[in-house]
Parts: sequence; C-alpha cells; structure tokens
Amino acid sequence: MKFNAAVLHRTGEALSIERLDIGALGPDDVLVRLGASGLCHTDLEVIDGSLAYPMPIVLGHEGAGVVEAVGSTVTRVRPGDHVVCSWNPHCGECFYCRRDLPILCEPFKRHEPRGVLFDGRSRLALDGSTVHHFSVVSSHAEYCVVPQSGAIAVPRDIPFDRACLIGCGVMTGVGAATRKTPVERGASVLVIGCGAVGLNVIQGARIAGAEIIVAADLDAGKRETGRLFGATHMLDGGDPGAIDFLRGLTGGRGPDYVFEAAGHESAFRLAVEAVRPGGEVVFLGKVNVDREVRFRWGSLMGEKRIVRSSYGGARPARDFPWLAQLYLDGELKLDELITRRIRLDEINDGFAAMRRGEGIRTVIQFDA
Ligand SMILES: [Zn+2]
Ligand SMILES: [Zn+2]
Repeated sequence: MKFNAAVLHRTGEALSIERLDIGALGPDDVLVRLGASGLCHTDLEVIDGSLAYPMPIVLGHEGAGVVEAVGSTVTRVRPGDHVVCSWNPHCGECFYCRRDLPILCEPFKRHEPRGVLFDGRSRLALDGSTVHHFSVVSSHAEYCVVPQSGAIAVPRDIPFDRACLIGCGVMTGVGAATRKTPVERGASVLVIGCGAVGLNVIQGARIAGAEIIVAADLDAGKRETGRLFGATHMLDGGDPGAIDFLRGLTGGRGPDYVFEAAGHESAFRLAVEAVRPGGEVVFLGKVNVDREVRFRWGSLMGEKRIVRSSYGGARPARDFPWLAQLYLDGELKLDELITRRIRLDEINDGFAAMRRGEGIRTVIQFDA
C-alpha cells in the first residue's frame, strides 16, 4: 500500500513529501488512516537536531484517525473505530509497567530512540529502504502503524482536528494538573509559559477547581490567551516584583503549585523560588539535555517537592476518552487551541511559523 508522508532525510533540511510503502502488519499492529495531526515543538527539535533520531524519519506524534486494519492479536480496537494515537505505547509487562509507570516502559525506551516498533522493525519504506518511525507514531502521513496500546478509541462525535490534540499537548498539560499532580479545589496555581502545554495546564487547573490561576509569560498577548483558558491573574514572567505579586495573592506564602511550561532556565528558577513551603513544582518544559540549570540553594528549602512530568501522568486508555468527553461536554477548550489548519504539503510553512513563535497549534488536515 502506498501513501504520502512528510519525510525528514537530514537534520536541518526541509521535509519532503514522499510516497511510502507499508508492509504486512505484525500481530499487534493497528493501521490508522489519519484524519488530522498536530505539529508539536518536539517534532521541531528533531528537525533542528537538538533531539537525535535515525534518518530518514516520519515525524508527528499527535494524530487522530480511523482504524483501517488490525493485526491478528489486536482486541482493543477494530476497523472503523476512531482513535487518538499515544506517543507512549507500553508493553504492560515490564518492570515499570508492572509498577504502573508506563512512561518508563522498558521496551518503549529501548525501541523508540531507534525509530522502530516493539518488535525492533520499521513498517515504513521508501523505494525499498527503511524509513523510521518517530515516537512510535509518525502521524505526519496519510497512514501510520502503531501498537494497539498506542491506538485509543474515542467517541466518534469529536472531530479529528480537535481529537488529535489530546494525544500530546492536551494530555501533557491537563494531565499535569489533574493526574500527575492533582490540584485540589480552591488551590492556588502559577503556570509559567502560555504555549500549548501551559494553556492546557491552565484549563486542567480550572477543571480541577483551582481558585487562583496565574498565567505568566513574557509575551502580553500569550498571557491574555491564558485568561481565555481559565487564568484569573496575569504576570509578566520577567517582572522583578513577580514573587511579591504572587505572595500578595496567596496570604504571603506563594502558590500551592507551580507548573513550568516555558522550557527556560529562568522559568525553572522562578518556579522553585515562587512555590510556597511544602508546595509542589512540576517541570514540563525542556532545555537541551546537556545544559546545566542552576538554583539558589535557599530557594529549595521548605520541604518543597519537585516533579518532572513528560506526559502528564498519562494512562491513555483511561484519559483519552475522558478528555474527549470533557470536550464534548463543553468543559475542555480545544477549538481555541487551533490557530492554523494546513494540508500535508504545507508542513514546512507550519514549522516555519512555529519557529517564529506564531499561534498555538497548527494542525494538518487530511482528506476525508
Ligand atoms: Zn508533542
Ligand atoms: Zn513496559
């Protein structure tokens, strides 16, 4: 079967649209015809080379579509189901899966960096040569092949362009404030960085019933978007009076929870300085893995907890249908996250806009 996919041949180059082949499905494989796929910063990190993967590769890890075919042992989905792809499929049986830590699944950690599925093989080929999978999804293509733990059925009523967002940015952000570190009703929350993940932390905190939600960003426009998602207060992240402002809102103590979603050293430091004694900091943003990050020792005092979250404590089979239903019930904002819709062959323009910091999410829409 041949289909169109955006292929990255070399770091730093533009993606090219190629006709790929998919071979025979393995027993645990699910073939998905994509309806939509988001462009995420993590994809851009591979293009720009700060994340190293084998090439050529098909990027995209935020996809939704229809199941076209399944392997012989697949029981969780069947052809015709609408699914959202998870970028953290897991084996369910390893040391970490048995401890309910699927994000650390050992077969996932072993195979994902090599651009292959859990049996060590790629399903994608270009003129007979191997093309690699990204994050066991590769949704910047008309079709993808994922393990059944990476294809999660969701209600049919949610359109694909909105459903796909659940697979990365929404799960990561909403999950951080509801699953990884559940915020209590009435709590005070600071969210640093109002990109796609930060906005989803804000709405996660709103859904959880937080009373004070401060949206911090260096960009006034992005802070204002935070209000649309549920922020009650705005803060210029570079304001030297930031700590005083936050203490003024919280009885002199500082916020109960601080979620860092800016991916900047100064944001990591502000998070730890700002959280109240006994409070919890959740780091969601990323800097280059070789970078060192410094903290003032005194800012770590006071029984503070620091957590690193990659996927918002995701249990995709539990959480994706829940998030889809929250959208259908009008509680979760997804329409407002999409600032641009493109065709697959416009993907390089989409990443160029991301480099310029434009918009929240660009989504590729595939022909029905
Ligand atoms: Zn992502
Ligand atoms: Zn596992």
